[in-house]
Amino acid sequence: MIEKGAFEETKARGLDTFRADVAHLLPFAAGRMHEIASWDDVKLLTVKVDRLREWARPGLLCIGDAAHAMSPVGGVGINLAIQDAVAAANILAAPLREQRLTLDDLRAVQRRRAFPTWATQTFQVIAQRRVILPTLRAKGPVSAPLAMRLANAFPLLRRIPGYAVGIGVRPEHVRTGEA
Ligand SMILES: Cc1cc2nc3c(=O)[nH]c(=O)nc-3n(C[C@H](O)[C@H](O)[C@H](O)COP(=O)(O)OP(=O)(O)OC[C@H]3O[C@@H](n4cnc5c(N)ncnc54)[C@H](O)[C@@H]3O)c2cc1C
Repeated sequence: MIEKGAFEETKARGLDTFRADVAHLLPFAAGRMHEIASWDDVKLLTVKVDRLREWARPGLLCIGDAAHAMSPVGGVGINLAIQDAVAAANILAAPLREQRLTLDDLRAVQRRRAFPTWATQTFQVIAQRRVILPTLRAKGPVSAPLAMRLANAFPLLRRIPGYAVGIGVRPEHVRTGEA
């Protein structure tokens, strides 16, 4: 991971330094660093966290990352995308089958999923600011945040992040008639 805007600094330090840093982080690949022949072999993926103001238009509904780009923090983007899909199926199956779908039905998907999206993204942004950014900026060893030290000491507490990641803010269950 590279702090946002710091890729130019990384480049300025030179390809040899970059290769040495990668080899240090991934010792199993140290013998393959010559494969990075130039900066053209290095692809930067810029991570964004954002949301559409409106997820629906006549004939169009955006769900998953199309409606709300997720950061990799917590590994929950796929959960949210699937929960959006299940909510969309629950809300839209009957109106679609009965050929009475309106724009308001499409907007109902956003009304149901907007809060869990906001809550999950807020958690991601806080984790990014409080844990990941200070770690990226640290020059020496870092100590784990208090919440992590507590979870280490009291195993029962680990159920909280387990629930937050695995189940999430608003779990969805398939409720269409066929199911
Ligand atoms: C680096 C990184 C790591 C991540 N790690 C995790 C993780 O560990 N766990 C987790 O849960 N989430 C993770 N996420 C988030 C997660 O990847 C996304 O939230 C999730 O994939 C969103 O699913 P989606 O179906 O909405 O979109 P996508 O998975 O992006 O699916 C969209 C699909 O549409 C296709 N497509 C695009 N345009 C067209 C077109 N014109 N015609 C046809 N097809 C098209 C694309 O090829 C793609 O297959 C990570 C994200 C990043 C950036």
